[in-house]
Amino acid sequence: MTTTQPQQFASDNYAGICPEAFAAMAEANAGSATAYGADGWTQRATDAFRDLFDTACDVFFVFNGTAANSLALAALCQSYHSVICSSSAHVETDECGAPEFFSNGSKLLVAPSSDGKLTPDAVRRLATSRSDIHFPKSRVVTITQPTETGLVYTVAEIEAIAATCRSLDLKLHMDGARFAHACAALGCAPADITWRAGVDVLCFGGTKNGMGVGEAIVFFDPALSVDFDYRCKQAGQLASKMRFLAAPWVGLLESGAWLRNAAHGNACAARLAAALANLPDVRLMVPVEANAVFLDAPAAVLDGLRARGWQFYTFIGGGARFMFAWDAAIERVDALAADLRAVCQRADREVMAAA
Ligand SMILES: *Cc1c(COP(=O)(O)O)cnc(C)c1O
Repeated sequence: MTTTQPQQFASDNYAGICPEAFAAMAEANAGSATAYGADGWTQRATDAFRDLFDTACDVFFVFNGTAANSLALAALCQSYHSVICSSSAHVETDECGAPEFFSNGSKLLVAPSSDGKLTPDAVRRLATSRSDIHFPKSRVVTITQPTETGLVYTVAEIEAIAATCRSLDLKLHMDGARFAHACAALGCAPADITWRAGVDVLCFGGTKNGMGVGEAIVFFDPALSVDFDYRCKQAGQLASKMRFLAAPWVGLLESGAWLRNAAHGNACAARLAAALANLPDVRLMVPVEANAVFLDAPAAVLDGLRARGWQFYTFIGGGARFMFAWDAAIERVDALAADLRAVCQRADREVMAAA
């Protein structure tokens, strides 16, 4: 696909860089600056996170989400510890063993989950399933907000998981690859679903929020971030020209684009879901709460969509996934809905003709 072809919604990573992030990078590109994060842009981005979260958090900038999650989890664990996650968690299904690799072997303990969310019960069950020396000791819980299927944990749900974590002496990590979308969906302050609710470390996604590259690791407890800079460097995640990872955050956070971008993605997903409400052959597999739409439809309908040029992934539960980023064009969302309606009618006619 080139950028001159019609917009697709197969992934929110298809989107480009939003104007606010791009402008900040262009500004950072005027002249030179100190390397390895000792520059004004990195300081300004860090300050913007402290303002956003209303607390003196420690912030680190890395290139991608796999590294952010893996290094954050490694910082919370010894190699003989384990990390509790949902069966559909990105750390389990899509990071090629990086969390285990960077933690030198901390085991992921996977909780079966029908909707992708972890619950206090599931955490307690796994954490207390064994207490003998032969099994890795539970140390961390990781939740994805919103989940990989676009469900949003409420403040109360996070607080309940955090309370369970505290009672079992577990740390709580949040994979926030789409954290902004959860904030937009809940209409809450970022602090309310992180440190005020009991989250210790957040990986805040920049890439899916309108940046070209970059994620922020936010430590709400400074005791947990000791030597984290060394961990990033050893993992090849210390950017020498750090200002280009930091500046787009300044652009996103200071302008409010981080939240506008996410709200737009969420609104596009809601728009598609609403347009499909009366289609008999098409079913939403998951309630639409953030920027994802998962459709269950007959193979003929999905083939019909592909024949009309639409790209989408079907690797989760056999459904078709559509993701909406900051740049989703309303006309393309409507075109997708119209094509779905058309292929459904056609599939119906074919069934009737064959009967
Ligand atoms: C996209 C994503 C990540 C980060 O993936 P990278 O490709 O490593 O940047 C992490 N967690 C979730 C839930 C994601 O969707």
